[in-house]
Order: sequence, then structure tokens, then C-alpha cells
Amino acid sequence: MSVHSSAHILPIDAKTGLVLGVRQVLTNHYDARPAGVVPDLIIVHGISLPPAEFGGPWIDRLFTGSLPPDVHPYFAAMAVGRVSAHALIRRDGEIVQYVPFGERAWHAGRSAYLGREACNDFSVGIELEGTDETAYEAAQYESLGALIRGLLAAYPTLGRERVVGHSDVAPGRKTDPGVAFDWGRLRASI
Ligand SMILES: [Zn+2]
Repeated sequence: MSVHSSAHILPIDAKTGLVLGVRQVLTNHYDARPAGVVPDLIIVHGISLPPAEFGGPWIDRLFTGSLPPDVHPYFAAMAVGRVSAHALIRRDGEIVQYVPFGERAWHAGRSAYLGREACNDFSVGIELEGTDETAYEAAQYESLGALIRGLLAAYPTLGRERVVGHSDVAPGRKTDPGVAFDWGRLRASI
């Protein structure tokens, strides 16, 4: 089922930084952007917890600091870090928001874009539930397109030519969203 058609622009309130009509999950895993810094880059990520398993509650739990370290061997190491993203797009296209877009989410880590370091300061981070090698779902491309079109409408400092992958800003350290992500398909829709 199509969640967001190719013409849909998700409504975003630039004052609150919230997408209207999507599930909001409260977290304290964010802080303020540096004074005077506005978002001008969108970073696309891929994530799955446990790796290559979809549909569980664990991404919400990771981004809210409540991932139980004993449920899966992989979780123990993950549970000690404090990370987040502005939004997640699940396999069925559902959008979940964790951090208002005006605030700084903790998704990029050590990173640089065109020589400018610390991308969290000036970016919006969007996670896709998936792996580097698994084709992302049509519903995810539709939701991602609708979300990015909404962001471009709400924040004039963002630009359709400044949408990159985590692997682009942290080469050698990060590979997501991976070879499975179809950049042409996204770019054609924004
Ligand atoms: Zn990432």
C-alpha cells in the first residue's frame, strides 16, 4: 500500500521542528545546534536491530537510551552509546520522529562534508530500517521522498542537491545506507 504518493509533501512545522501526523517518540538524546547554525544537509542512514532483523521495538529503545543489553549479544555494545536520529522510516513506510529538526540529533559521529567537520551540527539525520545489502522497500522511498520534500519546503537552507549518505560523510568508518540504496530513485523524487 502506498503511504505517501510521489506528490505528497509532509507538513512540517518549522517553529517546533515536528512533522505533523507522525508518531513522536520522546528522547533526551539531543542538544542544541551551535548558535547561529541552521540545518543545510540531509544525511540518509540505514539501521537494523538486531542486524538484518526488522520490525522489532529496538530502534526506539536505542534512541531513547533503553535498549536492554541482555536481549541480544549485539545489544551490549550498542547500549552504552547515546545516539539518535531526527526520524526513522520503517520497512512499511511508517515515519517515527525522535528529535525536532531544529535541534541537534546524534547520528553522524565523526564526520565531514566538503571539509566541514561535525555534521551533526548542521544536518538532519534520517534512518531507514534496513541493511546495506537488502533492497529498501517502495514504501520507504515514498515516505523518504515525502519527508524530504516537506523538509525542503519548511527549511529553505536545505537543498535537494545536499542529500548524502552516512558513508559519504564518514568514509572508511560507515557504509550505510549501503549499496542497496537506490540514489537515482530518491533523487528523481525530490
Ligand atoms: Zn548511519
